[in-house]
Amino acid sequence: MLLKVEELNVYYGAIHALKGISLEVNEGEIVTLIGANGAGKSTTLKTISGLLRPRKGSIIYKGRNIVGLPAQEIVKLGLSQVPEGRRIFANLTVRENLELGAYVHRDRVKISKGLEEVFDRFPRLKERQKQMAGTLSGGEQQMLAIGRALMARPKLILLDEPSMGLAPILVQEIFNIIREINEQGTTILLVEQNANMALSIAHRGYVLETGRITLQGGAGELANSEAVRKAYLGG
Ligand code: ATP
Repeated sequence: MLLKVEELNVYYGAIHALKGISLEVNEGEIVTLIGANGAGKSTTLKTISGLLRPRKGSIIYKGRNIVGLPAQEIVKLGLSQVPEGRRIFANLTVRENLELGAYVHRDRVKISKGLEEVFDRFPRLKERQKQMAGTLSGGEQQMLAIGRALMARPKLILLDEPSMGLAPILVQEIFNIIREINEQGTTILLVEQNANMALSIAHRGYVLETGRITLQGGAGELANSEAVRKAYLGG
């Protein structure tokens, strides 16, 4: 097991956003968290990546409790997040954005090898490496955000709504890329509102409702479940 989250309780002031979330991610898996707006999906990812601190609960990553570690230390341990809304640096070039993703590794050779790998995976980013990131299309920005996370050579990637705001054809492309990244050995925890797509590439999933996990199981099992179909897959 790569990640084990137990009884996470997270508050925003008086708002009790996560009410005891427990989940596991095994090495090599794609695990998805699905749920409606405001269910707590992003909060779960932000807490795992060290951007938010839980009031209670533990996050065991590679056998070690990482609660309280600074976010950059967590990245160094091989756990990278691709944030919702991508958050690329609009006024830096594509290449500069990617290089920033490798800031935890100071080794120039490793950085240029990483860059080469990302450009192999995303030829479109290679062509546009000198372009300002803010002028990329939505799909290209999502590729850049994923590429930037890959530059840190993560073992586990937390992906927050990669399909957000993308045309259906690009959603398909992004999901194909996620599947490839997983097949090449990176474990993935995927948050999505697009439950259909998420369950189509995931091995297992968890359903979140107002800060609690209400259902969990194999991706196929969830996709066929009456409750999931009604709530998230349009009947
Ligand atoms: P979405 O799909 O809309 O992004 P989500 O499942 O990711 O939803 P979260 O963003 O984790 O949901 O939000 C969980 C709850 O915490 C919501 O009720 C939200 O309003 C609240 N919340 C999130 N961020 C903050 C914040 N910075 N301050 C106060 N409340 C917040």
